[in-house]
Amino acid sequence: MTDSFSNLSLAPTLARAVAEMGYESMTPIQAQAIPVVLTGQDVMGAAQTGTGKTAAFSLPLLQRLLKHENPSTSPARHPVRALVLLPTRELADQVAQQIKMYAKYTQLRSAVVFGGMDMKPQTLELKKGVEVLVATPGRLLDHIEAKNAVLNQVEYVVLDEADRMLDIGFLPDLQRILSFLPKQRTTLLFSATFSPEIKRLAGSYLQNPITIEVARPNETASTVEQRFYAAQDDDKRRVIRKVLTDRGIKQAFIFVNSKLGCGRLARSLEREGLRTAALHGDKSQDERLKALEAFKQGEVDLLVCTDVAARGLDIKDVPAVFNFDVPFNAEDYVHRIGRTGRAGASGLAVTLVSPSDTRLVGDIEKLIKKKLEVETLQLDERSRSGGERSDRERLDERPRGRAYEGRRREEFDPRDAIEPRERRGGFRPAPVNRDPFFEKPYEAPAADAAPSWESAAPKTPRSSISANIKPKRKVAALFKTGE
Ligand code: AMP
Repeated sequence: MTDSFSNLSLAPTLARAVAEMGYESMTPIQAQAIPVVLTGQDVMGAAQTGTGKTAAFSLPLLQRLLKHENPSTSPARHPVRALVLLPTRELADQVAQQIKMYAKYTQLRSAVVFGGMDMKPQTLELKKGVEVLVATPGRLLDHIEAKNAVLNQVEYVVLDEADRMLDIGFLPDLQRILSFLPKQRTTLLFSATFSPEIKRLAGSYLQNPITIEVARPNETASTVEQRFYAAQDDDKRRVIRKVLTDRGIKQAFIFVNSKLGCGRLARSLEREGLRTAALHGDKSQDERLKALEAFKQGEVDLLVCTDVAARGLDIKDVPAVFNFDVPFNAEDYVHRIGRTGRAGASGLAVTLVSPSDTRLVGDIEKLIKKKLEVETLQLDERSRSGGERSDRERLDERPRGRAYEGRRREEFDPRDAIEPRERRGGFRPAPVNRDPFFEKPYEAPAADAAPSWESAAPKTPRSSISANIKPKRKVAALFKTGE
C-alpha cells in the first residue's frame, strides 16, 4: 500500500505512537489531509466520525508543534498552541484521549475541558500549561471568562463536527471564542455535511482552504441497504421485531426524535422482553457509559437513542440501524445510517415511515439524491410485539389527553440538542481515562448469546426492570430479563 504512515516522515516519537496503535495504513481522510495540514494550510474536510479524522488532523498538528516541545515545568513555556473544539463531551473526551496517545512520547501536553464536570481539576490542569486544548465551546468560554485559558498564542484551531456545533446552536459561542484567537493561524474545519451555514462559517473563518472529501458530502455508503417501511406508530415495534428476526440481526441502534420518545420506546421494548437501553441527553455520563458497555458486552441488544446522544458514540459496524422516527433534519439521516455498513461491511438501515412523514422522506430524497421507495412489510403473528398485549394496553402507553400523532413533533425538545451549560452539575463527573470502549470498533457479542427477540415468550410488563424507570441500578442487573 502506498498510504503507509512511513511515507509521511513523521517524527520518531509520533511514528512510534502510531505504530503502537497498530495502524497499518492511512485511512483515506488521513492520506489526503495529513500532507496538507503539514504544510500549514487551512482545510475544509468532509468526513464523519469513524473515518480516522482525529489522527488526520492531530498527527500533523503535533508534528508542527514539536518545535515548541520543552521539558520546562513553567506554565509560561506551555501556552495553548492548538485548540480543538467539539460539540459534545463524549466526542471531546474521545478526541482528547486519542491525542494523548499520539503525543505520549513527546513533551507536548494536552488537556480536555467540557461541561458537566467540576471546573476545578480542569482549571488546575490549564494553569499548569498545555499545548493542545480540546474543549466544548460552552465550557471553554467559562474558562476564558475565569481567565484560566489564554488563547493569544494559538496557532491552530480545529472545528470538528462543525455541522453539529451549528445545529446545537453553538455559533455565537464559536464566534466569541474565535475572536480571542490570533488572526494569523491555521484553521481546520471538519463536517460530515456541507450545508450553506457551514459554507458560510468556512467563508468567514478559513483562508483559501483546501477542500478534502473522502466521500461526497451527504452521500450515504453504498454498503448500507436502505429500506423504508410504511408503519403506523402502533406497528413500528412489530416491524422492528420482524426485521430483526427475519434477518437474524443480533444488535441494533434505534433512533428517535425526542428524549421522551426515547425513554418510552425503550420501556416498551423492554416490557416486550427485548434487552434494551436508552441513551439520551438527560442520562448522566455514567449511565451512558454503562449502557454502552452493556451493549458492547452483549448484555443489551437494542440501544434506543436520540441524535445528540448517539453523536458521541464511536461504535462502528452496528449490524442495523432503525429510524423509529424519521429525523426532522435530513442530515441526521446520513449521520444515523452511517453507524452501519462501515469499512466495507454490509449494513441495514430501516426507516419507519408513518403517513405524516412524507415531507421528511422527501427531504431525505433531496439530500441524498436518491429516489426512495416506501414499502409495506407484511406483519405476521411471530413478529407481533408484546404477544398477547391488547391494543388497549398499547394505547395506555400513549401520553394522555392528546393524540399521540399530533404530539410527535412537539415532543422534540431542543434542549436535547444543547450542551447543557445551564444544566451544570446535572452530570456526575466521569472518571478520567476510563473510556477505552470508545476507541474500539463495534464487535458482535459472543455468538452463543441469542438475541432476546428470539427467546420464547415475551415478558409480562411486571417481570422486567426498566433501565429508564430505575436508572440508579447496576446495568448488569438492569438488563437481566429474567433468564
Ligand atoms: P475517528 O474517526 O478519528 O474517531 O477514528 C475512529 C477510530 O479509528 C479510532 O478508534 C482510531 O483509533 C481508529 N483509527 C484511526 N486511524 C486509523 C488507521 N489508520 N488505521 C486503523 N484505525 C485507525
